[in-house]
Amino acid sequence: MHVTVDQNRCCSSGQCVLTAPAVFDQSEEDGLVLLLQDRPAEALHSEVRTAAAICPGGAISLSAGQEVGA
Ligand code: SF4
Repeated sequence: MHVTVDQNRCCSSGQCVLTAPAVFDQSEEDGLVLLLQDRPAEALHSEVRTAAAICPGGAISLSAGQEVGA
């Protein structure tokens, strides 16, 4: 799994941080999403998918990764 975020679409709701705190954080300055890791471990994929699904700005994109277990 490869994760990308678009800060231009982020509305700083923080849903992704609550859902997958190992992968997403928010800027202390403006609240915009910060990506902590773009190729999260498989154990995190479920919560990352949930975060992408509930993001109100549609700012989180997922694609198939190259690594084994993606
Ligand atoms: S859930 Fe979406 S809109 Fe909210 S902080 Fe995360 S990326 Fe931004």
